[in-house]
Amino acid sequence: MSNTVKLPTDSEAKALILDIGRRMYDKNFCAANDGNISCRAEDGNFWVTPSGVSKGFMKEEMLVKVDASGNIIEKNGDYKISSEIKLHLKVYEERPDMNAVVHAHPPVSTAFACARKPLNKPVVTEAVLILGEVPVAPFAVPGTPELAETIVPHVHGHAACLLANHGALTWGTDLIQAYYRLETTEYYANMMVLTGEMPVPVHVLNDEELAAVEERRKGYGITF
Ligand SMILES: [Zn+2]
Repeated sequence: MSNTVKLPTDSEAKALILDIGRRMYDKNFCAANDGNISCRAEDGNFWVTPSGVSKGFMKEEMLVKVDASGNIIEKNGDYKISSEIKLHLKVYEERPDMNAVVHAHPPVSTAFACARKPLNKPVVTEAVLILGEVPVAPFAVPGTPELAETIVPHVHGHAACLLANHGALTWGTDLIQAYYRLETTEYYANMMVLTGEMPVPVHVLNDEELAAVEERRKGYGITF
C-alpha cells in the first residue's frame, strides 16, 4: 500500500512525541518509565522514545532515530532506545502505510489484556467506528523478538491490539491518529466494564511464563 501522508520533519516529529508522551503520562496510560512511542519522519527513518525515561519527562535530546532495521541513525548522550523497538518496527514492516506506533499500559485495557479477552462488545458507536474489534495477541515476554511476532496476524485489518498480560498497542497514519486510537481503546475497555463485561477470569502467569519474565528482569539489570 502506498504511503501518501505528509510526513513530519525531524523537529515536528520530536515535538509531537514529547507532547503525546506527556498526554499518555498525565492520563495514567503509563506508570513510571512504561510505554513507548515512535513515528516515521520525512526521510523515512523513525524517531523513537528512549528506555528508562518517563514519558511525562522527556526532552528532545533523549529521542533516538533509527532506520527500518533498528540501526541507530542519530542520538545524543547515553540514552538507549526503547526495548520495544522490535515491536514498533514489526508494525512498520507489516504495515508500510502506517507512520506511527504507540504502546502503553492503560489500566482498564490492560485488565482485559490480563484476562486475554478482546474488546468485542459493540455497544458504543464511537468505538465501533474508530476501532472495530480489538483482538488480543498471545503472551510473550516484553522486549523480546517473540513479542514482536505475536502481533503480526493482528496488525492487518485492525487499528489496535492488546498484548496478553501486558498492555495495548496502536498504530496510525500519523502520531495523533495512533494516540487517539489508544485513547479510544481505553474508552472502549471502560465502556465494556460499565456495561457489565468484566475482564475476568484473569490469566495469572503460569510457572513457565513467570520464569521467562523473571529471566528478562535479569537482562534489564533490575534489582530490588
Ligand atoms: Zn509495555
